[in-house]
Amino acid sequence: MMLRQGAGMTSARDARFLYFLAVVIAVIVFVIDALTPLDIAIAVLYVVVVLLVASTASRQAAIATAWTCAALTLVAFAMSHDGNYSGGPVARCIVSLLAIGITSFLALRNQANTARLQEQIQLLNLTHDAIVAYDMSDRITFWNQGAEALYGWSASQAIGQRIHDLTRTSSSIPLDELRDEVVRTGSWEGELQRVRSDGSTVIVSSRFALWRDDKGKPRAVLATNNDITLRKRMEAELQRQQDELRATIDAIPGMVWSSSCDGELSYINRRWNALGVSLEGNSGDVWTSIVHPDDWHAMYAAWRGAIATGKPFENVSRIRHSDGSYRWMHIGAEPLRDREGHILRWYGVNTDIEERKQMEEALERSEAFLSDAQRLSRTGSIGTRLPTGEMWWSDEVYRIFEYPQHVTPSMELIVARAHPDDLALVREAYERGLPGMPYIDVEHRLRMPDGRVKHVHYVAHLAAPQTANLEYVGALMDVTERQLAQDALDRSTAELAHVTRVTMLGELAASIAHEVTQPLAAIVTAGDAARRWLNRPKPDLGEVGHSIDQMVRDAKRATDVIRQIRAMAQKRDPSEAVLDLNVIVRESIELVRRELDAARVEIEASYAQRAPLVCADRVQLQQVVINLVMNGVQAMAGVTDRAKRLRVCTGRFDDRFDGHYAQVAVEDSGTGISEENLGRLFNAFFTTKADGMGMGLSICRSIVEAHGGRIWAESQEGQGSTVQFILPLDKGTCDEQ
Ligand code: ADP
Repeated sequence: MMLRQGAGMTSARDARFLYFLAVVIAVIVFVIDALTPLDIAIAVLYVVVVLLVASTASRQAAIATAWTCAALTLVAFAMSHDGNYSGGPVARCIVSLLAIGITSFLALRNQANTARLQEQIQLLNLTHDAIVAYDMSDRITFWNQGAEALYGWSASQAIGQRIHDLTRTSSSIPLDELRDEVVRTGSWEGELQRVRSDGSTVIVSSRFALWRDDKGKPRAVLATNNDITLRKRMEAELQRQQDELRATIDAIPGMVWSSSCDGELSYINRRWNALGVSLEGNSGDVWTSIVHPDDWHAMYAAWRGAIATGKPFENVSRIRHSDGSYRWMHIGAEPLRDREGHILRWYGVNTDIEERKQMEEALERSEAFLSDAQRLSRTGSIGTRLPTGEMWWSDEVYRIFEYPQHVTPSMELIVARAHPDDLALVREAYERGLPGMPYIDVEHRLRMPDGRVKHVHYVAHLAAPQTANLEYVGALMDVTERQLAQDALDRSTAELAHVTRVTMLGELAASIAHEVTQPLAAIVTAGDAARRWLNRPKPDLGEVGHSIDQMVRDAKRATDVIRQIRAMAQKRDPSEAVLDLNVIVRESIELVRRELDAARVEIEASYAQRAPLVCADRVQLQQVVINLVMNGVQAMAGVTDRAKRLRVCTGRFDDRFDGHYAQVAVEDSGTGISEENLGRLFNAFFTTKADGMGMGLSICRSIVEAHGGRIWAESQEGQGSTVQFILPLDKGTCDEQ
């Protein structure tokens, strides 16, 4: 039987109408049957009454009606025949009763079938699934409450409509193919998209079953539909979240992985593509294939250890990339545990630390270089944070101070090593940072516990004046060797200066002899004169006295010359005194006077009006002046085309930045100095003379600089040169001797 909804269903109003009609018909039939003499089985018409009542679906009413109709038939028979029961009327009565009985039986049976069918339909309505039946032309024949709820149309609206037109079915396969498949296989299962009565779209999971009649002819399709819109939406959302999570994991700048609780890799993110590995087929071997053979054992042991203990895993190894190169990576993993604490999985990330590793190595290298350089150059670094005085020393500083590396650096340790004579200097220098001096530069001595003396040079500058804490970065140089070399050099320079002086004296011997013989001759002459004045008959004591005065003066002059020569020839340490440069220059010129005369040099001296007083060593200054004068004389030796003129001037030289100086300039009209030679004039052993030593100007420079002055030369090649030096004017600090 084809499921057809609505069959046998009667509303209360219909029932009342049917009852009324049944009563009317029953009354009419009874009246005709009882009161008219018609010889027909009119009572058969009671079957109509029974059928009408039975159609209301009330079993009791139908049974009562059947009995009532039978009773009415019998009553009418009795009334119309008055005990006169012939064969014909009895037979008609029996036929009528049979008709009523059979009709009632059939009606009741039909009623029972219909009720069962209704029950089944009610059952179908109970399900939440949307159940729809439609015939082979797609016309809906059944539409349960689930379908009403799902699609929005009531059964009465839906029945008779074409299912696919009504719900605007769309499917991944064309509907004709779908229909063919249902007919061919008898069923179909899949997802369909439909439109509800309110226009909204719904996705349903449908199952179609084909119903064939007894002859095997396809008659109808029964479809059950479930609304899976929400599930679909959730699936889509889940998928989106999964995609997003995957994209996020892929975007992490690291190789993300997870493994089972026993360490077998089960997931790797896209970054692993760079390693050229995949999980297919070799999940266990992935690590072996990518970890550097030299790092593998340590990494494997650490990983097994983490799995065994459940502690977080950490390791640094070289990992091979698809191009064959190895890069340093940090491999870290944490376990995920269940409520009981059992490890479910491991989640790990490999982070590329190649750059960091290289930087670390470069840093280590440069630290090693720095340490080597510090040891070689005997220079250590000191960092000092103020006002706390917190210090940092490099290894070399520990070596210079000769402290063990484990002691904490401090100012006290430095002070403890300072030479007692330099203690104040050290304190001042290292504590000068307190008021924030931008630069510190000091040389001082250290005295080691065994009595050795070291010379150090400390320079420091303010490294971060912008922060609240002042920080000095300084260098401490062990200059002991340099200092010793300097001392030795100073000594040999002094010796050399002495040798030069003596050599010069040899050269000047004739002048000196002349200088000495002249006053001696004058003394002899004056003595003779005195004697003559005395031998006069009347001695002229006044003249005698005059001659004796002259003798004394000349003797003094000779003594002076000899003293000066002795001083020049003497080997002694320099002694400083306040000297008048005018006097020094005058004396020096006198000493070389004869040389000047012999060389036919015109000397022109101009002296500063205010005596330029300097604090210096007399003999050394004379040596400088004589040197410059003699160089000038020698430079003019070959000059024939012009006058040989030597000008010596003293004066003052004011430097805008450096203060006030006394100046001596020696100007000649000799050969001059070439541009090239001007730069190396003061270098030791530079000479252009066949018998020159090349030490004169070099010694002059060390003498001048030792007195805090400067010496330089200017020249117009071919026209002469000027060599001049300046010395700081005495400020009254010189010890008078
Ligand atoms: P020496 O006189 O033994 O050569 P010096 O150091 O005194 O050594 O001089 C170095 C060189 O400087 C001389 O050889 C000379 O070439 C040059 N020199 C020095 N003074 C003068 C000068 N006034 N004019 C030209 N050249 C000069």
